[in-house]
Amino acid sequence: MTLQDFLTEADTIEREGTAALTVAADANALEAARIVFLGDRQGRVKALQESLRAIAKEDKPAAGKRFNDVRTRLDALHTERKNAAGRAVASTTEDLSLPARRRWQGAKHPVTLVIEEIDAIFRELGFTIAQGPDAETEWYNFGALNFPPNHPALDAHDTLYLEGEGLLRTHTSPLQVRTLQKYEPPIRVLIPGNAYRRDFFAASHAPVCMQIEGLCVDEGVSIVDLKSTLNVFASRFFGAARTRFRPSFFPFTEPSAEMDVQCGICAGAGCAACKGTGWIEILGSGMVHPRVLDAAGIDSERYTGWAFGMGPARMAISRYKIPDIRILYDSDVRFLEQIAGSALNGTER
Ligand SMILES: [Zn+2]
Repeated sequence: MTLQDFLTEADTIEREGTAALTVAADANALEAARIVFLGDRQGRVKALQESLRAIAKEDKPAAGKRFNDVRTRLDALHTERKNAAGRAVASTTEDLSLPARRRWQGAKHPVTLVIEEIDAIFRELGFTIAQGPDAETEWYNFGALNFPPNHPALDAHDTLYLEGEGLLRTHTSPLQVRTLQKYEPPIRVLIPGNAYRRDFFAASHAPVCMQIEGLCVDEGVSIVDLKSTLNVFASRFFGAARTRFRPSFFPFTEPSAEMDVQCGICAGAGCAACKGTGWIEILGSGMVHPRVLDAAGIDSERYTGWAFGMGPARMAISRYKIPDIRILYDSDVRFLEQIAGSALNGTER
């Protein structure tokens, strides 16, 4: 290639490159022009550089100087146009005078908050957490817990049976049996987990619900331990001055009792929250039935125990004044955000 040919080609590239970079209307067009002229592999400036090799030795300094001029000019023009395009984008999509948006950090679900609070209280009282399978056998869910074979809870209307042998546990109580089989007394466990019922999704019922259950088994444990422990819990969680126990029935405890706390809103006078009774029912409890201990291989002559179970979703509803249990399962961030706000006592996020 002669020097003259080289210089002509350099002029052409400079002229056409300048035009292409100048008319590029947006960032995409600019990038396309850059690839054609300044691209590392197939760019025309690169090709011009390759052709320098074919120039006679005595002409090389002149050709090299011209090549550097062209490359520097097109590079500078590209940089300038790119910066201008960036400024244009920034000015159309962002108002830099707005205050910075705080990052939403997420929050714990109200039921999780209630469970964590219950956990913390019982941990102080020496309880540890036990967890186990949601899919159970009929024996763990019913048989070992002293449900008679004709008990209505076994009926298909209440229980979700799985194909084959299993079922979805209808309560967290199978974990009582599993824990008793696994560990020697003294036992103090808290069992949070899901329970499943063949129930319609209604304002106060869900087919899946969280339960939290407690079990204490040791030598010489009596109903005094049950009442005093649950009273401590009620005063810590509800700030309740008074509690009451009403006789009840569960197959796996004997005797059994429902525990009520005095309504914190009306202090027992009766209001809408407590349906005029002055009391709010919070849990079921009782002394572990000797047959449950025997079924799990624990000597019921030597050991006694007590247990309780409650629904943290119900407790979350009363604590946060939620009108409908279904809201807890909707995953509506606007709702969760409100609870997170109140749980943080108005701390700015
Ligand atoms: Zn009340």
